[in-house]
Amino acid sequence: MKYNDKILDQINKNQSFFEDNIKDFDLNKIKKIILDIVDKLSLNPLITQEEIFNSLSLKKIDNLKKINKFIRENDFIQDIITKKSVSKKYWNTILPFANISEEVITNKYRYPIRIALFPGVSCMFYCGFCGRNQDAKYKNSVVTDGVNQIKKLLKTTDKNSKISISGGLEPLTNPKIGEIIKAANDSGFKVPLITNGYSLTEAFIKKNPEIWNLDSLRISLYGYDSNSYKDITQVGKSYDIVKKNLINFLKLREQFNNKLKVGLNYIILPENMNNLINVLEFIKEVNASAQSQGVNFLTLRDDYQSVTGNDPSLDSIRKYRLQQEMTINQRKKLLEILQDFKSKVKTYTPYLHVDYGYSLEYLSNNIFDKGLVKVSGGELRKFGFTQMSVAIDLHGDVFLFREAGFLDRPGNKKAIIGRISEKNSLEKIIKKFLEKDQPINFDEDDTRLLDSFDHVLNALVNQSESNYKFGISLSECPISFKQYSREKSVGNNWYSDDI
Ligand code: SF4
Repeated sequence: MKYNDKILDQINKNQSFFEDNIKDFDLNKIKKIILDIVDKLSLNPLITQEEIFNSLSLKKIDNLKKINKFIRENDFIQDIITKKSVSKKYWNTILPFANISEEVITNKYRYPIRIALFPGVSCMFYCGFCGRNQDAKYKNSVVTDGVNQIKKLLKTTDKNSKISISGGLEPLTNPKIGEIIKAANDSGFKVPLITNGYSLTEAFIKKNPEIWNLDSLRISLYGYDSNSYKDITQVGKSYDIVKKNLINFLKLREQFNNKLKVGLNYIILPENMNNLINVLEFIKEVNASAQSQGVNFLTLRDDYQSVTGNDPSLDSIRKYRLQQEMTINQRKKLLEILQDFKSKVKTYTPYLHVDYGYSLEYLSNNIFDKGLVKVSGGELRKFGFTQMSVAIDLHGDVFLFREAGFLDRPGNKKAIIGRISEKNSLEKIIKKFLEKDQPINFDEDDTRLLDSFDHVLNALVNQSESNYKFGISLSECPISFKQYSREKSVGNNWYSDDI
């Protein structure tokens, strides 16, 4: 490993730690073990302490705890694992959440770190990988009350929480979206919003000038030309309209708020992965037309339908469903495509920040892995992880998992823990749910109710529980979780790698 010599220096410098703490210590053996542990954590943040212990020639758990203590208290080694390793994306995202994982295991109440707001009334697209119920839309009559509840929630939301606006359905279909953005700003939140961009017209922007107060706006890009767009959205002209809206928004941004970051999200599917370079061409063209700072960031996500959309229960109520999941061979091919892509980013769009997400980070670094972290139905947390994340829709329903937050998605009711109202605050709902102590029995196919972020959080809590049962608590792990309190550490944007 690149930093092995420097890690060995740290061990040599601190030899007395082992003399004092480990009986009959053998320095060479300890060096090997520490390098091995750092290597494992650098490649797999979700590895359990039991797995680490079983892979090492350690006789007692107590010795692992002592070695963990050395790693945990050494800032240099911490930095190598969490900030310089190939898994830094994982570490950056999960550290503040890992820090409270024992509170999740013990069902201790804590205000959620992340709240995803789903204020959309409907959606005009019919994406084949989407888990929405394509027959469902909210009644217009619920909009005013729903928005008022969200505004009230924002007034009382813990200031250390992170708020985002997305879907659920398409958020810009809510005629009062500007009021929600304003309420969030008034309460001091920096808000990112995800949209499909179809409604982001000049007229919409005029009616909703609060949109300029967002921290970032991310448009989900469903293709790179008319045909590819229509294939996914099933809506003709969707490409032309979204592209026109994007160029116009980029132009106007210079006038209204040139600090607002604008980005795109592109989902890589087996059907489109060979055309990834076309996305860069698209951005280049858009930037040239907008004649401004252009698109700031691109998030790439892969094989989405394997997480959520490949849900046969929706087949009778949706236009079509993408069939394929990405095979191992296709993923190997994707690794090659990403190397080419990375080099082209430098020449085509040098100022573009590319966020490869959890699963593509490895591939983008030329390391093959099997992809997204996915928990099975039997591994689902029976109380979710409300201390970490919840989603709230226009009805005020509080969802344990984010992909459950589609109106009338078959089977999603079991993931609703209450509805916010005049009398029922988010805090009350969560407290009551945890105090009631009635676990939810999830089925195998309920994993479709989680998005990839939920899968990571779920896996993280399971890891912590496994470590705890094995006899190693959070404070005895090799990572110094406690320094990552949510106040300073939770990121809420895609335009930088900062935590
Ligand atoms: S993925 Fe988004 S834009 Fe596409 S159908 Fe679902 S909610 Fe609509």
